[in-house]
Amino acid sequence: MKEFNGPLHKKYYYIIVLFIIILMLAGLLVDNPVNSRFAVHGVMIAIISICLLVYPWYENAWMRYMTVISSTGYFYILFYLYPETWAEFVLLCFIPALSILFFDKRLFYFSLVINLAFILFTFGYIGFVDKGQDYPYIYTDLVGNVVNFLASQVLLYFIFHLTNLRIQKQRVYYEQIQHAERMRTTGQLAAAVAHEIRNPLTVVNGFLQFYMEDSAFSQSQKQNFSLMINELDTAEHVISQFLSVSKPEKGGKVDNVDVEQVLQDVTELLNMYGLLNDNSIDLNVENDCHVAANSIELKQLFINLIKNAIEASPHSGSVKVKAFKVKGHVWIQIIDKGRGMSKEEVKNLGTPFYSLKSKGTGLGLMICFNIVEKYNGNIQFDSGPGDGTTVTLKFPLVPN
Ligand code: ADP
Ligand code: MG
Repeated sequence: MKEFNGPLHKKYYYIIVLFIIILMLAGLLVDNPVNSRFAVHGVMIAIISICLLVYPWYENAWMRYMTVISSTGYFYILFYLYPETWAEFVLLCFIPALSILFFDKRLFYFSLVINLAFILFTFGYIGFVDKGQDYPYIYTDLVGNVVNFLASQVLLYFIFHLTNLRIQKQRVYYEQIQHAERMRTTGQLAAAVAHEIRNPLTVVNGFLQFYMEDSAFSQSQKQNFSLMINELDTAEHVISQFLSVSKPEKGGKVDNVDVEQVLQDVTELLNMYGLLNDNSIDLNVENDCHVAANSIELKQLFINLIKNAIEASPHSGSVKVKAFKVKGHVWIQIIDKGRGMSKEEVKNLGTPFYSLKSKGTGLGLMICFNIVEKYNGNIQFDSGPGDGTTVTLKFPLVPN
């Protein structure tokens, strides 16, 4: 019930809860003789009221389960205490609806299950013990009532399931919009800065090259120049990568690319890189996985992802690369058993300059996201801290 967070909303919560308590008390006090039945009923009301009143302070799973269990108990106890009240049966059917308020999938299923267990017991009792003495209205058509009950549970399940799906879809959509927005603003800003930095770099680089040829400088000075040129080249490389994202190359040829071929080239190239840390790449590709893309960009995409997987892997760990066809799509998976990432880290992936490596640029994944989008693909990260990471790419399959 996150909707009730914040002081104003809490006020509404308490108004609603108070209303519920008043209704329960009315049920207890109006026209009800004071006896043991009255006492049990009163105790149940007290338990539920306490659960509802303290819930905002201890908003945890325990409290939610307690609330659901005590409310279920409450309705069933009322059913047994007042057999003459017909409408009670309808309330039993709708008990799981209570947990929809908390929007907790497990709690909802839990509620469905305990309700089912209770009702089985109740129908059993009415059918074999009571035999219509106290509950004639249920006994006369026991089968019909069982069917009614089941129908109501199925209905509740669908309501919950569909609402849940819709909310999840909206959440994903919202995250995508946020991501796109962040990419756009930071991308534009950084591209502008990058462009301005490039010119002075080129000038300095030019002068250094010129001095390299000049005999007036000593050999050790020239060695320093060479280092400086190297560093400038690195900077230039980062900027070019960056600009290629904000202004994607026009005219990059789109071919029918054999994923197997590209992956073989890439693994050959990266095997040397992996050997540095005794990592190996394990390639497994189904035949005829073809996609429509520019082969150079596809290579760039795979290199970035496999390189990240190698860099995350422990010493002598292996990285699995698989490609296969699923319902008109080519799936490519890059699986490592490395350090993995938390949910928060996964969320940040693709943000320019987001890197947890001392020598990382944090541009690799941003480029990957762009390439994937350009070819109508989809990229997904499944990861947990310490569990490794599985990157799944999906591209539309094209016939060979
Ligand atoms: P860089 O590799 O230069 O740091 P990337 O954009 O390629 O930049 O990656 C950004 C960050 O995402 C990395 O610094 C790393 O923390 C995280 N990351 C990416 N892939 C993985 C992976 N397979 N396992 C763990 N962390 C990863
Ligand atoms: Mg990287």
